[in-house]
This record gives sequence, C-alpha cells and structure tokens, in this order.
Amino acid sequence: MDFETRAIHDGQEPDPATGAVSVPIYQTSTYIQEGVGEHKGYVYSRSRNPTRVALEECLASLEGAEHGLAFSSGMGATTTIMQLVSPGQRVVCVNDVYGGTYRLFDKVLKGHGYGFEYVSVDDLNERPADVVPDGTRLVWLETPTNPLMNVVDVRAVAEAAHAAGAIVVCDATFTTPYLQRPLEQGADIVLHSTTKYLGGHSDVIGGFAATSDPELGERLRFLQNSLGAVPGPFDAWLVLRGVKTLAVRMRQHCENARRVAAFLAEHPAVELVRYPGLESHPQHAIARAQMDDFGGMISFDLAGSRDDAFAVLRSTKVWRLGESLGGVESLIEHPGLMTHASTADSPFPVPENLVRLSVGIESADDLIADLEQALAQVPAAVRASSG
Ligand SMILES: *Cc1c(COP(=O)(O)O)cnc(C)c1O
Repeated sequence: MDFETRAIHDGQEPDPATGAVSVPIYQTSTYIQEGVGEHKGYVYSRSRNPTRVALEECLASLEGAEHGLAFSSGMGATTTIMQLVSPGQRVVCVNDVYGGTYRLFDKVLKGHGYGFEYVSVDDLNERPADVVPDGTRLVWLETPTNPLMNVVDVRAVAEAAHAAGAIVVCDATFTTPYLQRPLEQGADIVLHSTTKYLGGHSDVIGGFAATSDPELGERLRFLQNSLGAVPGPFDAWLVLRGVKTLAVRMRQHCENARRVAAFLAEHPAVELVRYPGLESHPQHAIARAQMDDFGGMISFDLAGSRDDAFAVLRSTKVWRLGESLGGVESLIEHPGLMTHASTADSPFPVPENLVRLSVGIESADDLIADLEQALAQVPAAVRASSG
C-alpha cells in the first residue's frame, strides 16, 4: 500500500469491542488478569499500551521498519538509544546538531566518561572512513542539520561506519518518513522528535525510534521499559492523529518553503539562504539523491547585525516568534539565543545573524508579504554594503 494509506490505516484496525473507527485512548495504567499470568498481552502501561502500540505500528510501517518504539519526547528517545553505548566507547557526532542533543552529550554523558568526536558535514560526506575510525561504537547523524541545514550523505557514512563496526543513528526529524527513509539508506536506527512534523500541530511532546535489526529492536524495547521514557496514551493518540495528514501537510510545507526560499534568495537584506532545495546549496546534489523533496525548514543569514535580526523577529505578524518547528503554523526564531543557546560555548556556535524559519501551511502569499514588511527593518545602508 502507498504511504498515504498506511499513515491512515496501519496499526489502526477498528476497535474490536465497539467498532470505533478512531483508535481509543486506552487511559489505563494496568490490566486485569483472569488468573496469574493469564492476560491479553497487556500487563502494565509502561511496558505496553494499545494506543501506543497503534502509533508504534503505524510509524514503523511508514519507516519500512520491523520495530517501532514511541517515547515521551525526542530527548527521551535519544537518552534511551544512548544506553546502547557504554562509557569509554567512542561516539562520532555530526557537529551541527540539535542543541538539546549536544547538551545531553556534552553536559551529561561526557561527565560519565563517554567520548564524543564532533565532525563536520563536509568531513563526513567527503572522507567518512577517516572520521569514523575502527572501534567506533555509534555514529550520530542529523540531516538536514539543525539549524544550518547541511545535508549528510547517509549512504556514504553508513557504509564507512559499518566497515568500522559502528551503528548509525539518524535523527530524521526534519524530513519525516514522507521525504526520507534513512533505514533504506543504511542507517541502523532512525529517530524523530514527533513533537515536530509527525504530531504537526504544536500540541504534544513526543519521540520515536525505529530499527529493522532484531537485536537492536529487542534491546531498545527492553530499554524503553527499563528507562521508562514512554508517552501517555493521550499523547500517543495526538501523534497518531497528526500522522494521518502527514503527507498532505508535508506537500504544502515543501511547496511553501520553495516559494519562501526563492523570495529570500532575491532579497537584498538577506546574505545567504540555507535551503537544500536551492541549486546554490552546497549539498544540493546529495539532497536531491536521498530526499523526495526538500522539506519546510529554511535558515538564512541576515545582511546585518544581531540587533537587525532582533528587529526583524519583532516585526513579523503571521510568523510567530517561538522555538520548535514542524507545526501547521509558521514560526521564526533566532537559533543563537533560542534553540541553540546551549552550543554558544561549543567549537561550533551558530552565526549571530542567523534566522531560522519553520514554514507552515498558511498561504505562501501571506507568509512572503509578512517577511517582506519585516525585512524592511534592515537599514538600507546595510543592504547596500552586503552586495
Ligand atoms: C526538537 C528536536 C529534538 C528533541 O525533541 P523533543 O521532542 O523536543 O525532546 C531532537 N532533534 C531534532 C532535530 C529536533 O528538532
């Protein structure tokens, strides 16, 4: 079956008790047993809950994966996956990574003796065998990266990582399975913050991981239950409902982002547009090869200072100033002081004139008109000098 059909039906048979067409929210912590150990497969909701199972089966199907695991947040998924690594083992991580991931690695796990090497996207793409040495346990990828929108060549890195004996985790939050399925490209585990596009309505926090490796699947299931970072049934249901419209939403996100990126690329107050769909993007060819479309996230470097950026961010009306991304509503933010403040003292801080857009599914005309009036905040002198 096609993606759109699986998004609506997989894992979601009508309720056997009532015929309800929408998967019920099984708001229960425990399940009555007929006799000791005699039950219907459900014992306690940290281990298993029918609403969560529906979500896990649906998302696993969309990833083409054998095993799907839902978590309380993207970071809950990351924390759980990182238990596959022991202190002392080497982890190679793309150096332009979600700020919260960097914070967990650098401010929490490093202190417990984990070794992280941060590697640039260019090094990963161009000489993966050199930057993933033998004995590496895990390679952590994100593509496109947040917030600089670099694209990692998943196939090339996975090949080198496997030769070195490492497993590859790919945070595919920006693409969703609608645009890219990293497991098909060699990744061992794919991870999502379902808070973003999969939920799609900025009303839930959640995470998800999938794998087709039987050992990893079994271990992650054990860790999911042991660590306990599981979503409640209502949160699982909200994500499941969001996923039903994922395909139509993603098509509109991509279409709107294409128009917004083209508008920004021509604007004199914009120095650089970072969008993988533009032919000028340094990894446009890789993006074209591994993604079905280019997604709804755009970053751009304003021609001007941090204060000019702040003035633009204060002036938008349709674009709301806020962290997060992937919802139906358009959001604008300043990564340096907001989502990526935790990388400020890292070797790879983000530019202070960088602005990140999560392009929603409102009218593209309205989104462009709003940016047009906000960019008028950038002084004419600055624009002229930017060439
Ligand atoms: C938001 C985000 C996360 C973390 O997910 P939460 O649901 O906020 O815990 C991880 N990776 C990326 C790329 C994200 O955008």
